[in-house]
Amino acid sequence: MPALIPNQFVINSHPYTESLIRWYSAAKRDLPWRQTRDPYIVWVSEIILQQTRVEQGLPYFHRFIAAFPTLHHLANAREDRVLSVWQGLGYYSRARNMQAAAKQVVTDFGGIFPKNYADILRLKGVGPYTAAAIASICFDEPRPVVDGNVFRAASRLFGIRADIMKVGSRNAFVQALELVIDPKQPGTFNQAMMELGSAICQPTPKCIECPVQAFCFAFEKQETANLPVKGKKLKVKERHIHYLVLSDGARVLMHKRETKDIWRGLYDFPTIESAEVESLWREKSVHISNTYIHLLSHQKLHVTFYRVVVNGADLKEFARTYRAKSYSIKQILTLPKPILVANYIADVFVSDRHVEDLIK
Ligand code: SF4
Repeated sequence: MPALIPNQFVINSHPYTESLIRWYSAAKRDLPWRQTRDPYIVWVSEIILQQTRVEQGLPYFHRFIAAFPTLHHLANAREDRVLSVWQGLGYYSRARNMQAAAKQVVTDFGGIFPKNYADILRLKGVGPYTAAAIASICFDEPRPVVDGNVFRAASRLFGIRADIMKVGSRNAFVQALELVIDPKQPGTFNQAMMELGSAICQPTPKCIECPVQAFCFAFEKQETANLPVKGKKLKVKERHIHYLVLSDGARVLMHKRETKDIWRGLYDFPTIESAEVESLWREKSVHISNTYIHLLSHQKLHVTFYRVVVNGADLKEFARTYRAKSYSIKQILTLPKPILVANYIADVFVSDRHVEDLIK
């Protein structure tokens, strides 16, 4: 047993666990993925909630399940369709991985979602967090889930000083939680821990309202401000992206990104990526947008759009140069795109009267 675990956390005696679950049963929000033990539904919800908060994730969850109600629908869908439905959530590799994992279930597991942690972990894009969530919630396997909220709450509750920014620290948290997880209802325990971190043990903790205050190391020792220990963040990479929006008035050039990149499989405009040029074309005939700043977890994007209308012959030439294809606006609207490209198209083209006629 790790030395940092206070004495009251003794195996087979879980006053802490009882208090936590009692509070969660009364306080929990009524969410669609909490009304089922279907591993596909729980999996989709967990992946969506890794990148957005519950309120923002709900419409995406409903949209995804409406489009792909079962794992087989997802496995058999066209990738473009999956990315379109995912559009707006970002981290498109997660959507691609989900579809790859759905296909893997069909080929490697006879179409039945695997029922234990080790097998779930074999699915593409599924890490220890997601595997533990599905195994505990759907199959009662006592595997602690450790997400950002749980790191914070557990470090304070148990006085764990391992740096939560280091991958190797996770074990200390898993070992501590294994001592208190309820073996009869591990899924409920895990969801209660996540809810505690998200609703009560926030960065500025609401200790007065906390259902497990009596068991909390940091509260007793007045250490809530010192925990969790969080080392330096990874350096944010700055990227300068110049999009060439080449059009003959009716059709626009776009291409599918095939390079290994956050946007692989999505469609965007011919691109020049360089920090050297602040602004590419200054001719009057080129409409230059503002530079948009788009923040990702480890990247800061500076994105500028250059809109140029050329004649049909030049458009064909540009298509060859940039290995792009020309699409009508109506077609473009259905292609999966990075969200800032989708927003630009909505702003510039869809509000344009001429183009509105074209897309009817
Ligand atoms: Fe977090 Fe405060 Fe509760 Fe401890 S008492 S778990 S610091 S909210």
